[in-house]
Amino acid sequence: MLKLDFHPAGRHFLQIPGPSPVPDRILRAMSYPTIDHRGPEFGALGLKVLEGIKKIFKTQQPVIIYPASGTGAWEAALSNTLSPGDHVLMFETGHFATLWKKMAESLGLKPEFLGLPGIEGWRRGVQPQMIEARLREDTQHAIKAVCVVHNETSTGVTSDIAAVRRAIDAAGHPALLLVDTISGLACADYRHDDWGVDVTVSGSQKGLMLPPGISFNAVSPKAVAASKQARLPRSFWDWTEINEMNKSGYWPYTPNTNLLYGLSEALDMILDEGLDNVFARHERLAEASRRAVRAWGLEIQCADPSVYSPVLTGVMMPEGIDADAVRKTIYERFDMSLGTGLGKMKGRMFRIGHLGDCNDLTLLATLAGCEMGLKLAGVPIAASGLPAAMEWLTSQAQGAALKAAA
Ligand SMILES: *Cc1c(COP(=O)(O)O)cnc(C)c1O
Repeated sequence: MLKLDFHPAGRHFLQIPGPSPVPDRILRAMSYPTIDHRGPEFGALGLKVLEGIKKIFKTQQPVIIYPASGTGAWEAALSNTLSPGDHVLMFETGHFATLWKKMAESLGLKPEFLGLPGIEGWRRGVQPQMIEARLREDTQHAIKAVCVVHNETSTGVTSDIAAVRRAIDAAGHPALLLVDTISGLACADYRHDDWGVDVTVSGSQKGLMLPPGISFNAVSPKAVAASKQARLPRSFWDWTEINEMNKSGYWPYTPNTNLLYGLSEALDMILDEGLDNVFARHERLAEASRRAVRAWGLEIQCADPSVYSPVLTGVMMPEGIDADAVRKTIYERFDMSLGTGLGKMKGRMFRIGHLGDCNDLTLLATLAGCEMGLKLAGVPIAASGLPAAMEWLTSQAQGAALKAAA
């Protein structure tokens, strides 16, 4: 990290799928002096971000903001709604789904891990029909919650949450629906209210373009009702007092003031661009990446085109090639960080993040860095991926659209 004599010029390319690069505008907003978190100025900031973040989750309901990483908001979702020994149905989409399941176990819940066999499950999204079939069997309603990851950051698969909702409804099952969209929020369309999600978990350092350090629970009235009965021990995470104090823009404890300045700025940036434009930009960059990967003759980790992630693209390495050695070459030669293969995919793939503060030219430079690194690392590629990516981006005429919007 501290190789100060190495590639000192230009910007580091932080192309991991979170933390994503923090725009200068947000960094500057975060440098405002820290204020009294009980004073009048703070209340106005609190109310602004608590109202604004609802637009990103597409909810009219409260969104709780924690001074914690995403993992904390995972724990908050489980501990506010469930009781010791409760059965929960979770779906194995990848590394993050696996970590959430381990957390459920350590909290004293009884998670059941549904999934496709082998690495198949790590190449496809949540299978709603499997959830529906399992819930139909559960005639006693022992299962208290269904937990799924919206954008599985370890693989690059974005599951259909509306379809999971329909599966639960088709089975006529009362289980709560808990969704992790830590990396999906503000990149891919997400509708907390329309999709009938009971708790949505998210974090700051992915699509919201903030540094790590705050995370969220968007809650439904059904989730709030469940929290009145839930008996898992909780104190710091408890929604009740936070919700009460949030009504006037304050928190029961010291909130992350400077990150909230950043959040306020991020909300302005995202809502000024327009959520639909933000989603379209992510889709455009993701498609350009996939075209490059195909031109290289390499395989995309996500095997189902209907659930390709707009956030990141997982690139599988040919048999016998260590993906981490390729990443190391790219880091050392081109000062670019790519995501490592996690869990079952360790060493077998790398991940290109194209989320947050990323545009056409950022992406092209990223793809160029990947391509040069693949060549240097001796990975055989069929052809350059850059022409394919450039042709796609050119066909989208986004440059003109950007100026027209200004
Ligand atoms: C990043 C991420 C997490 C973990 O969040 P932390 O902020 O590292 O605690 C969990 N789930 C998903 C899908 C993620 O992308």
